[in-house]
Amino acid sequence: MSFQLEGKKTVVTGGSSGIGLATVELLVAEGALVAWCGRDEQRLNDSKALILSRYPNAKVLTSTCNVLDKNDVKKFADQVQNEFGGVDILINNAGQGRVSNFENTADEDWLKEVELKYFSVLHPIRAFLPALQQSECASITNVNSLLALQPEPHMIATSSARAALLNLTHSLAHEFSQYNIRVNSILLGMVESAQWKRRFADRSDQKQTWEEWIGNIAKKRGIPMERLGKPEEPARALVFLASPMASYTTGSAIDVSGGFNKHL
Ligand code: NDP
Repeated sequence: MSFQLEGKKTVVTGGSSGIGLATVELLVAEGALVAWCGRDEQRLNDSKALILSRYPNAKVLTSTCNVLDKNDVKKFADQVQNEFGGVDILINNAGQGRVSNFENTADEDWLKEVELKYFSVLHPIRAFLPALQQSECASITNVNSLLALQPEPHMIATSSARAALLNLTHSLAHEFSQYNIRVNSILLGMVESAQWKRRFADRSDQKQTWEEWIGNIAKKRGIPMERLGKPEEPARALVFLASPMASYTTGSAIDVSGGFNKHL
């Protein structure tokens, strides 16, 4: 079975690390042209060097771009248009979560979180929409979190903003059907990546190894599969939803949480 991605023009926001980078690699391996962005130039250059060391003939483009900056995103979209001559697939992955409860979330933190969850998706969609409308297999896939359905008090702002993103994704799926653009999302549980490495660095017991720390988290949280996900696991779900293999799927969300979802 092939994902039918050979020669497809694809964009991944936040492609320089973690889930985004695993997605970039999978798309490149499938023969797609891949453009990705991130804010940190060094990390972006390192990710490009890594991909080209593994796939020397890959057609790739990287751009330093903050997805919350409309002008940056427009510039990125223009670069992709000039280089690839169109876009078939947009994967909105850039972002991070905020660990805070009601008491220690200031008003400005709420605003920042809402801005991040909405505009990290809205700016790229606006910028890439004209190109997607020209594609015969267009799709938008948003990285979202299981927090959208299963909120956690210690991530109060992120949980509620994630619920809004799930709702927004559904509306967009309906509105964009007229352009034959499918819109879907994945709902993540906990996945090993830079966010978790940062939290690991700040762990209370500095003697704990990565494996011990991660294993304890999985056990404490009651993840049925007793481990965190690897970045390539959500990447595979993202690539499936984004690809023509999912041609009759829109307004849908795939759970990638190792069974952590407590809902039917
Ligand atoms: P990483 O920190 O490993 O990767 C995040 C990527 O996004 C990096 O490339 C980062 O590069 C980029 N990025 C972040 N903010 C921006 C921005 N404003 N503009 C452009 N690029 C940006 O994290 P993950 O791989 O874990 O996270 C990927 C997505 O999955 C995020 O949206 C995250 O919230 C979501 N998620 C992750 C979970 C997990 O357990 N890992 C759980 C639930 C959701 P740079 O910093 O250089 O900009």
